[in-house]
Amino acid sequence: MSASSLQIFVERRRRLFVLTGAGCSTSSGIPDYRDSDGRWKRVPPATYQDFMGRLSARRRYWARSLLGWQRFRQARPNDAHRALARLEAMGKSELLLTQNVDRLHQAAGNASVIDLHGRLDLVRCMGCGRRTARDELQDDLGRLNAGWLALDAADAPDGDADLDGADFSSFEVPACRRCGGVLKPDVVFFGENVPRDRVDAALRHLDEADALLTVGSSLMVYSGYRFVETAARAGKPVAAVTLGRTRADALLALKVEEPCEAALAFLL
Ligand SMILES: [Zn+2]
Repeated sequence: MSASSLQIFVERRRRLFVLTGAGCSTSSGIPDYRDSDGRWKRVPPATYQDFMGRLSARRRYWARSLLGWQRFRQARPNDAHRALARLEAMGKSELLLTQNVDRLHQAAGNASVIDLHGRLDLVRCMGCGRRTARDELQDDLGRLNAGWLALDAADAPDGDADLDGADFSSFEVPACRRCGGVLKPDVVFFGENVPRDRVDAALRHLDEADALLTVGSSLMVYSGYRFVETAARAGKPVAAVTLGRTRADALLALKVEEPCEAALAFLL
């Protein structure tokens, strides 16, 4: 199927529910997790149980994040983000639900966005619930671990960096300044549920939409796949822009196997 089929799909709908994934942000310099068959490209990220249960897992996470955040925070929207912002400006977008935690849709100008998996620019205390800026924690991490900042590591998804084989036992993990609790990035980890009110809010928007457009997601994670499943069950057509296989291939009315920016270029 060609991009012109996608243009017709978009023109025929009144209100689209847009669901985006990592493929939207790859050309902004944020690497993808999975290959074209939906398999992990590298060691899967830490689970919620690991992170909360083991100091060693938190040391490893924050050491990698200390290096990865420096590049991640500088990422800027690309033409795929701009095209989807344009869709909203045209009044065609009911909601943009993103699995990305990079806030690049908001940076591109989308106003109606739900960050399904949270946002990496905030840190939450698991003790008192206080939210603080990730940049603030970066200062603490850097001050406590000055030697680590000099290390160079390849960038990995979600502000992570590859530091395989490193010994993390000397890494200092800061605690909440208010209560001493465990600090966790304000994103949904694997093994952790998406907050129910967030899912419900997104489902209400899906109810108002007459079709679903998914961009740059393999839909391998159930939290995203459920929206495609719900749309299909309600008889709403689903179009996907993605490179490679998705978990929802059998449910798609249209599949465009092109890079996101190319497939959406007709909107710009
Ligand atoms: Zn706290």
